[in-house]
Amino acid sequence: MATAIYAIGIGSNRRGRHGSPRLEVDAAIAAIGGVVARAPIVDSAPLGPSIRRFANTAVLIASTESPPALLNRLKRIEAAFGRRRGRRWGARVIDLDILLWSGGVWHDNRLTIPHSALHARAFVLAPLSAIAPGWRDPVGGRTVRQLAHAVDRPRPRP
Ligand code: ATP
Ligand code: MG
Ligand code: MG
Repeated sequence: MATAIYAIGIGSNRRGRHGSPRLEVDAAIAAIGGVVARAPIVDSAPLGPSIRRFANTAVLIASTESPPALLNRLKRIEAAFGRRRGRRWGARVIDLDILLWSGGVWHDNRLTIPHSALHARAFVLAPLSAIAPGWRDPVGGRTVRQLAHAVDRPRPRP
């Protein structure tokens, strides 16, 4: 496969063998490899049942892997970092989600790109807009910058 660019969202709200959530994020970035851009880490309030705060960031990587091959590798990294399968949105040492792919849309029964919650999450869009502000969502056509502004100021709904 030709080289593709992927945007990967990274989150941690639990200490692991590397240390604090921020150190887990740094170690995950090193494990992923191929990084061409890296956003600052943001702190954010937990989603769902977790209590601990999250460290979140995003990276762009260059890779010749297909989307399913990359997902498999990210899941192996999550497992190696001690992430236990369990409650979705529970406390986790590391979460590695594929946000965008230069190939556009991907959909199979394990993987949806763009990530299905991309539009709704400031903790994803804020770091992503630091490294890929002009990347257009292939579904809605809006740029990451526009999505980040929209999620910051949700429009009142009738
Ligand atoms: P959320 O998807 O809401 O961020 P989560 O990241 O906590 O929740 P996980 O337990 O990490 O959810 O993943 C659940 C499943 O989502 C994975 O096993 C994977 O097959 C699937 N999945 C679908 N699309 C993606 C994607 N774009 N990136 C990563 N995983 C995905
Ligand atoms: Mg996630
Ligand atoms: Mg995930």
